[in-house]
Amino acid sequence: MHELPVVSSLVTQLQAEVERLGVAGRVTVVHLKLGALTTFVAEAMTFYFDALTKGTALESARLEVEEVPVLGRCRGCGEKLTFEVLPFVCAVCGSPELEITSGRELLIDSLEVRDETG
Ligand SMILES: [Zn+2]
Repeated sequence: MHELPVVSSLVTQLQAEVERLGVAGRVTVVHLKLGALTTFVAEAMTFYFDALTKGTALESARLEVEEVPVLGRCRGCGEKLTFEVLPFVCAVCGSPELEITSGRELLIDSLEVRDETG
């Protein structure tokens, strides 16, 4: 249930953004990037998003969550790696000394807006 405060602040941020862009009520899709290292569950986030946007300028929008894989580089041999299972170690040299470069994302990637003229 820890997705609720995160989605709540996301919705607040989005509401300010749609006001600024002048697209209130016309957003159809919100694309969110969610790193695999975050402990948030995409289904829970879309559920809270729908609940929190009901009756707001974002009511017509749905949340699309794109999961970002965990990427990194080995500090031992310099190999670039994609991690899928814990524990994270280098697949080449076995070193646990890794630099994680992606996978912690929680950010709004883009918005799709309905064209009022069409
Ligand atoms: Zn290595």
